[in-house]
Amino acid sequence: MSFSTLGLSTPILDAIRKVGYDKPTDIQQKAIPIVLEGKNLIAAAQTGTGKTASFVLPILEMLSKGETQRKKRIRALIVVPTRELAIQVDEKIKQYASETKLTSMAMFGGVDYQPQKQGLVDGVDVLVSTPGRLIDLYGQKAVYFEEVEVLVLDEADRMLDMGFIEDINKIIARLPQDIQNLLFSATLSNPVRDLAKSAIDSAVEISIGKHSASKSNIEQWLVTVDKDKKSALLAHMINEYQWEQALIFIETKHGAAKLAAQLEKRGIHAEAFHSGRSQHIRAQLLNDFKAGKIQYMIATGVGARGIDIHDLPRVINYDLPYPADEYVHRIGRTGRADKNGEAISFVSKDNFKNLCMIESRLGHLIERREIEGFAPRKEVPISILNYVPKHKREPKD
Ligand code: AMP
Repeated sequence: MSFSTLGLSTPILDAIRKVGYDKPTDIQQKAIPIVLEGKNLIAAAQTGTGKTASFVLPILEMLSKGETQRKKRIRALIVVPTRELAIQVDEKIKQYASETKLTSMAMFGGVDYQPQKQGLVDGVDVLVSTPGRLIDLYGQKAVYFEEVEVLVLDEADRMLDMGFIEDINKIIARLPQDIQNLLFSATLSNPVRDLAKSAIDSAVEISIGKHSASKSNIEQWLVTVDKDKKSALLAHMINEYQWEQALIFIETKHGAAKLAAQLEKRGIHAEAFHSGRSQHIRAQLLNDFKAGKIQYMIATGVGARGIDIHDLPRVINYDLPYPADEYVHRIGRTGRADKNGEAISFVSKDNFKNLCMIESRLGHLIERREIEGFAPRKEVPISILNYVPKHKREPKD
């Protein structure tokens, strides 16, 4: 199938060609015609599947046919959980809209209001925003919603995990009633379904399937290791395998800084990427990492949400993520758009229950490999699949 059969017109098709996509991904084949028909949509799709284009392309197509916006008005609203994702989605929109006159802007907290207010003055066709800043600027009358035609809730499960439900409900309550609603989420968990039920009438539901949780182009394996040996193991593997690049996930900001220092002592330079560093520094680090100037980046799960690096060859779960869906999100940072990727997890005995949940979520065990010299003193038993957790914990940043 080619993009030209999906109902997109020449300016959008030209832009796609410029970006270099040959054919639509699964989610794009399914979602684009539905969105173009003006239907509401609930889609289970992970990052890395091409989901951004699956809603941005038809939205641009629809907007390019209508009137442009008035002052402080927006026509499409994309709500995302993090600043990084806001910036990335906006970058994609600008690429896909390069052959049209449509405008877009990213908006997020933690930075000056003024440039964002200024950006809204003449109106914007597509606004990508995190929930808090959007409500703030709406309250300040910097943006009005009465011309909104379509709302996208992107990474809805993340937004709920991050406690944005009230903000999202506030936004929905202020939007016009009869707009088109699209919801994208890696998983359609109960809270996401509740949100969808309350916010979206008669939606078409699509899912690109569980197999995407274990995409075959991502080679997953784990190493069992004692907790106190993890940094030595990481340094050993970096030296042994001569990895050109790796995104290393860790649980806390403090842990990220400590690991960077431990690696430095072993002659390996890695940068810590987390919400404790300024927005400016994070943007710089991300650019340098994308450009290959930084080889190893140590990120907290929350800090790294939405990171989209085209050719990222590998992610390392230095700390095993919780909950299981977070594992799926993390490994989805590599092997994007059918490139090959590798996801390696370090697992110690106290991660056992968590490992059971992750492997149950995947529906299979993750291959175990031994690294000589690092066999754990405390063995990690083989998981029980279909493990049901007794209580829930919150992910930390
Ligand atoms: P997403 O799931 O939206 O985060 O997209 C993941 C990556 O796939 C991004 O780097 C996109 O630029 C890329 N991508 C999206 N659609 C296609 C396509 N049809 N062909 C090739 N790459 C794509």
